[in-house]
Amino acid sequence: MAKCPICGHKWTYRQKVLGYALKPRTRTKCPDCKSYIEPSTASIIVDYVAVLSLALLVFIGIPLMQLPMGTSVMLTGALILVYILGVIPLTVRFKQYDYKIKTPG
Ligand SMILES: [Zn+2]
Repeated sequence: MAKCPICGHKWTYRQKVLGYALKPRTRTKCPDCKSYIEPSTASIIVDYVAVLSLALLVFIGIPLMQLPMGTSVMLTGALILVYILGVIPLTVRFKQYDYKIKTPG
């Protein structure tokens, strides 16, 4: 369950899809307290693994199946939808936005 680290607001599935999965990741805001938050390190790792597996399937797996063009395109679209509507909303966790202030020296 994705929760806001500042106010504890629990993100609904809809909020995760519309407010996170379909938006630029650098500007994630809590829908309740409007604080800037960002995905936790663990969810970024999960995201990389999911994107890599998706890329492998789309660029290697699907061409190897030698499906008709239309079927390949549909399958690719379906995988991307599964990623956006399934993997992201189910795995994302948030932490407070890290402004990455550089310490001198
Ligand atoms: Zn909040």
